[in-house]
Amino acid sequence: MPIRVLPEDVASQIAAGEVVERPASVVKELVENCIDAGARDVRVEAQSGGRQLIRVTDDGCGVPSDEVELAFHRHSTSKLTTANDLAHIRTLGFRGEALASIAAVSRVTFVTRVAGEPVGKLVRLEGGRVVNRQESGRPPGTAVTVEDLFFNVPARRKFLRTPRTERRHIDAWLTRYAMAYPELRITLSHDGRVVFQSPGSASLRDVLIAVYGLEIGAALLEIVPGTQPTSTADGADRRRSVADGRDQCPPHQSSAAGNGDAASGIQVAGFVSPPSLHRANRGYITLFVNGRWVRDARLTYAVVQAYHTLLPSGRYPLAVVMVHMPPEDVDVNVHPAKAEVRFRDGDVVFRAVQRAVRHTLLNKSPVPIATRPPAALSPGGSGQPWAMRMSGQREARLERLTGLGSQSPGEQLRFEQVAASRRPEAGGRAEGLPPLRVVGQVGTTYIVAEGPEGIYLIDQHAAHERVLFERLLAQREKAAVASQTLLEPAPVELAPEAESLIEEHLELLSGLGFQVEPFGGTTMLVRAVPAIVADAAPRQILEDVAAALEVGDVPLAGTLEGAVALQVCKRAAIKAGQVMAQAEMEELVRTLEQCASPRTCPHGRPTMIHLSVEQLARQFGR
Ligand code: ADP
Ligand code: MG
Repeated sequence: MPIRVLPEDVASQIAAGEVVERPASVVKELVENCIDAGARDVRVEAQSGGRQLIRVTDDGCGVPSDEVELAFHRHSTSKLTTANDLAHIRTLGFRGEALASIAAVSRVTFVTRVAGEPVGKLVRLEGGRVVNRQESGRPPGTAVTVEDLFFNVPARRKFLRTPRTERRHIDAWLTRYAMAYPELRITLSHDGRVVFQSPGSASLRDVLIAVYGLEIGAALLEIVPGTQPTSTADGADRRRSVADGRDQCPPHQSSAAGNGDAASGIQVAGFVSPPSLHRANRGYITLFVNGRWVRDARLTYAVVQAYHTLLPSGRYPLAVVMVHMPPEDVDVNVHPAKAEVRFRDGDVVFRAVQRAVRHTLLNKSPVPIATRPPAALSPGGSGQPWAMRMSGQREARLERLTGLGSQSPGEQLRFEQVAASRRPEAGGRAEGLPPLRVVGQVGTTYIVAEGPEGIYLIDQHAAHERVLFERLLAQREKAAVASQTLLEPAPVELAPEAESLIEEHLELLSGLGFQVEPFGGTTMLVRAVPAIVADAAPRQILEDVAAALEVGDVPLAGTLEGAVALQVCKRAAIKAGQVMAQAEMEELVRTLEQCASPRTCPHGRPTMIHLSVEQLARQFGR
């Protein structure tokens, strides 16, 4: 075929594909336009997760009648004039692509009025072509209605997920903007029901309470202004940017004076969780750069790093971190959806975030920070009775957890004989374990055991996770998961996203022993939980589950169900730092021997290290 320039409608559909991925991207772009237009009140309505209809209404500056159609041309914007402006962008939009892209793949009705004009304007487009234009009354501001998204792109339409899933993505974007702009009143409704409203009080904490609930919102620590400047090579240059940075802070960002970094002009503000409050994944770390939500693995890591040694392994903080910096030091024009940014000096930003968060934790943490559990600090001695008492309880628990009960004395004897004679296990599976004899516990974290083939150092937490995981899934297969009904059903208020995720998977959860039901708003009522986590707080379990659902299938767990099971088992498993009685360890090792894959935990980490007889002999030069 000869080379041709694509017809305009084909080109714009292709371009639209980059900006409009799903209903939530439409919401994002339209809300950004409201914010850029100086709105104070933004209303978002969606029907069928936005597949059928999305309407975003604002009280911003509006578009002059004679410019409305122009706004729908590709690369038409009021926010940028020269390429030079790209270097210091202070608005959320600047590419002039959103309206054109949205219009190319839906039916759009745009009604707007500028405060000075007597009457407003309505323009309707279908698949990018204007089908109606007329005068129209409305209060100053703009209302954009987007219907039948992807009506003309069947391939894209097919890829849309269930309304519930699409709705969840919309919720996620809305809460991000509510956090970034606490002075805005943002209202979200789905299918006619208001599901979220930010108070518009200009206080980020108020927004966080609206998003995460009172308990979490109140517990979060506000990032405190730091003192240490970051040293950079080009100090003079940086000093210039400080001044720029201040001047250029748009009015809606001025409340962000936070953790200052004098040398780089970087300010870090926001809230972070105290070390006692954590999550199963990084999904609750929300980052903004100059009022723009960004995905940035490195900055996320900076936050996580600040908690170094303060959180249990595999747990992550909840954080909302606002970075403000001179616009010329960050390139936002990296990605059509503008979700990624590039820093001129990423190290400086990394350090600023990490320091601000660490500083806050050390200064504000309400609880003394112990890097090791107390049990590990005082082994033996006066700790002994406590350990005995605890381990008694734990023994009972372990029995309940593994569901296998104690062995009969006869079995026990056989087991010991086999272990003592160091006979290789008969009929052992390739992955299986020979019978092991427990020697003791080390560092309240590892179990030392010996077997016919040498010494085994077993990670008690990982091993227990493996045992519980296999057991839970086996019970699930037989639809016989042990479930524990709570004495009193517990109402748990969740973040809107978490709530809708859980609501979406009630059936899956019931198969795993949960009995949960919607309880109005974003509250779920927990009636029963899998027996193995009966001791944990219902809120904690639900949040774990939501986190697992959010991440979705993890390769090792196989299915979404597996991912949830994995999370439940992680919560239920004995932790590192817990003293274990001999009988408990024996019970654990024995159940581990019966596992199909005893050598790795469900996350794929090893449960044990094996030192073979030959290895030992070699090391000792025998
Ligand atoms: P961009 O936001 O990158 O400029 P868009 O395609 O999103 O591009 O919008 C094009 C233009 O339409 C904007 O530059 C702005 O002037 C105008 N506009 C869009 N939405 C609104 C709104 N809600 N209020 C006022 N002006 C708007
Ligand atoms: Mg825009």
